[in-house]
Amino acid sequence: MPPGGLQRVHRHVPERPGWRCRACGAAWPCPVGRMLLREEYGADRIGLSVYLAGVLFDATGDLIQQNPPPTPAELFERFLAWNAPRRRPSCGDDPNPGGA
Ligand SMILES: [Zn+2]
Repeated sequence: MPPGGLQRVHRHVPERPGWRCRACGAAWPCPVGRMLLREEYGADRIGLSVYLAGVLFDATGDLIQQNPPPTPAELFERFLAWNAPRRRPSCGDDPNPGGA
């Protein structure tokens, strides 16, 4: 993680145990929070995924105490799916050959 990166995202961070954004009050990661995380990790999508997996673990522990608790699908959509790569148009047809 680059130094100073946390300073850029510190405002749109989750408030536990509700996992609402401290800055805008939206369900975290809010749209701005997601954008800042993408900027923070850049091309390191795996690094962001690992981070989000840890967040999902922590958030699940908090959010399942809610009534009603979120479903596993909701948790997946909220914390992981937004960072998942888009489906490829067809097998063997890499839209981004070579990568970066
Ligand atoms: Zn926010």
